[in-house]
Amino acid sequence: MSRTTLIDLLYLVAATTFLVALKGLGSPKRARVGNIVAAIGMAIAIGATFFYQDADGKGLAHVNLMVLGMVIGTIVAVPAARFVQMTAMPQLVAIFNGVGGGAAALVSVTEFMHIKNEQPPTYVVLEVLLGVLIGTVSFSGSAIAYAKLQELMTGRPITYPGQQLINAIFGVGSLAIIVALLVSPSMTFLWVLLALSFILGIAFVLPIGGADVPVLISLLNSFTGLAVAASGFTIGSNVLIVAGTLVGASGILLTRMMSKAMGRSLANVLFSAFGSNVTASGDGAREDGRTVRSGTPDDIGVLLAYASKVIIIPGYGLAVAQAQHVVRELADELEKKGVEVFYAIHPVAGRMPGHMNVLLAEANVPYEQLREMDEANSEMSTADVALVVGANDTVNPAAKADPSSPIYGMPIINADQAESVVFLKRSMRPGFAGIENELLFDPKTVLLFGDAKDTLTKLVSAVTNS
Ligand code: NDP
Repeated sequence: MSRTTLIDLLYLVAATTFLVALKGLGSPKRARVGNIVAAIGMAIAIGATFFYQDADGKGLAHVNLMVLGMVIGTIVAVPAARFVQMTAMPQLVAIFNGVGGGAAALVSVTEFMHIKNEQPPTYVVLEVLLGVLIGTVSFSGSAIAYAKLQELMTGRPITYPGQQLINAIFGVGSLAIIVALLVSPSMTFLWVLLALSFILGIAFVLPIGGADVPVLISLLNSFTGLAVAASGFTIGSNVLIVAGTLVGASGILLTRMMSKAMGRSLANVLFSAFGSNVTASGDGAREDGRTVRSGTPDDIGVLLAYASKVIIIPGYGLAVAQAQHVVRELADELEKKGVEVFYAIHPVAGRMPGHMNVLLAEANVPYEQLREMDEANSEMSTADVALVVGANDTVNPAAKADPSSPIYGMPIINADQAESVVFLKRSMRPGFAGIENELLFDPKTVLLFGDAKDTLTKLVSAVTNS
């Protein structure tokens, strides 16, 4: 078997592991194994690449530089991934994704320098230029998404008059430069394309804010996949084509699923500057003078301890408070008292898909106690208490009842159908969508204000002593 055939076979093995890994990532039980399988596949692909030889028997050039790059990358990435807070995961994904897009764009730029004087077929130049455009948009867009999520700049949509027209001009301008480059390949035009794509990435992301940023990251992820696939075609690497296409396709599917779970179209997520108007007040003072009912840990502890069924609805606040272990303690304590307990998981609770599953798995909550939204909703009317731990938008009845609400149409967990509702939150601030939740003012609702870890700890002792 020739060296090239062997390398191709190893690439095939790597590509197969990526498919197996994706399948594994579909379930919390197999996700960790899926990740390891993908990492092994990637190691095989990288290892095989070092044995590459071209038709003249020449191997890779600048191996030392490549190894140096890998060492630096590893030194930066391993601690970043290891020590990242669960709540900061979306921005980590954003920055890693952006770097991937940037790398793909650089591959395409280098390749353009090689081919520009060789008069290659138009489609070859086109795929190189698309690699530059998409990779750069993904790079600069991800950098802004990172800055928004990391609160280095406002997370709200940034809008200005004529924004969509200006963005359209950048988009059309980039395509026009691509056409010019196809007609006459010149480095000057390439730098213009690079600059325009960079600005386009920023301009595209600025009006997207708040809750929509994770959806955007998933879309940018898909862009990076496409840019990587384009570089794969450019340098004739099958493994890059396969890996890039998988990322591109799964990224776009995830983007669609996320928009659907939020009850919105992708176009609405990308172009409506959703969340720029916050309608709820931060301090609980309301113009119509309505008040909420707040309780003490002891009152609520008794309510929980004497219930027969409690449905816990976790949300983003659980992640912020890192209260996954103590919520499990509370559930265990309640079960000891004979209360039936399970968790209702909304598909977009938290800030990334599977956020609640990951958190609760970290606290070793048994999978059987996690119910998906529809299943949980079918039992909600039989629950004595819906215990909402740091969730808000995902239980907001306005999504069902108020056609004027920006979240109208988003499927929710029907906490309002339980006999009583308990909210654990710190203030009257709204959720990520920035809109008020009528359920907080419902007579059957009681609020326990404070950081969820703290209030849950108090509830554990209250339940134990009941
Ligand atoms: P929300 O963002 O609606 O609400 C979170 C609540 O947690 C707030 O009311 C906040 O109130 C409370 N909170 C924050 N920190 C704490 C703390 N330390 N202790 C107690 N409470 C706390 O969360 P949901 O999970 O219900 O909804 C997720 C939102 O994110 C949806 O709008 C969804 O569309 C969006 N989204 C989710 C994605 C995903 O993939 N999961 C992707 C894209 C968007 P207070 O500040 O008063 O404490």
